[in-house]
Amino acid sequence: MKVTRIVLTIAGLDPSSGAGLTADLKVFAAHGLYGVCCPTALTVQSTQGVFRSEAVPPDLIADTLSCLAEDVPLAGIKIGMLGSCGAVCAVADWLSAARFRGPVVVDPVLRSSSGRALLPDDALPALRERLLPLATVITPNQPEAAVLAGEQAAPETLAEALLAQTPAVVLTGGHGPDPDTITDLLRTPVLERRYTGPRVHTSATHGTGCAFSSALLAELVLEQTLVEAVGAAKQYVEQAMRAAYPVGQGRGPMHHLFRHRPKDFTPG
Ligand code: PLP
Repeated sequence: MKVTRIVLTIAGLDPSSGAGLTADLKVFAAHGLYGVCCPTALTVQSTQGVFRSEAVPPDLIADTLSCLAEDVPLAGIKIGMLGSCGAVCAVADWLSAARFRGPVVVDPVLRSSSGRALLPDDALPALRERLLPLATVITPNQPEAAVLAGEQAAPETLAEALLAQTPAVVLTGGHGPDPDTITDLLRTPVLERRYTGPRVHTSATHGTGCAFSSALLAELVLEQTLVEAVGAAKQYVEQAMRAAYPVGQGRGPMHHLFRHRPKDFTPG
């Protein structure tokens, strides 16, 4: 009998599928995993930005998580945009009650690149105190790490500070100063490791953080070590950005399923 590993994304819905849970499902599929999802927020957005966001009621989130977990064995969980304090608490309650033993990657999404807040400030204490301790690893970018740590500082200092809240941190380097390279920093209590790669010059940057955290979860579920999984996830995002084809008029999606060629279409 063939068995596919099943992974869960708990995230917001981006109808343009560049970010959020529909993008996460593509990343899981690209890694040969079956994805299920729990929506936490509906957004009105396109490649041109996020224009509106409505939170899913916390009891609907709790019911969705219980319903899925009773039916399918979950090999890993990615948590992205939560959108409200109620959602943070519903997910933290469920995760601690479930005593889930597989990898949990938390991408602490606070704001879209277009500048819209995707998590209200009143949710920060619950995120820090209730959810981050339940993660295997968290994947903030520099601005998110600064908010969570409560200080502006160098990536090394922020990663160190965040270890008080969570077991491992990958501080993604897209906001770094170098125009040609990006350095991600992995920090655990016992190791510090840098991953430097080329900065891909493209407008297909929508949802790169979502894709990185989902790919990281997929690699962990596929039994890569954390050190290997970070490198593989970084490489996946780089390849998917290079393979992007034009979608929309703004910051387009990467080609999550780049190993599958899109069907050619000649506009007539
Ligand atoms: N919408 C959703 C549902 C997201 O989860 C995210 C990021 O995680 C975004 C929008 C923002 O994506 P970007 O920063 O690429 O604009």
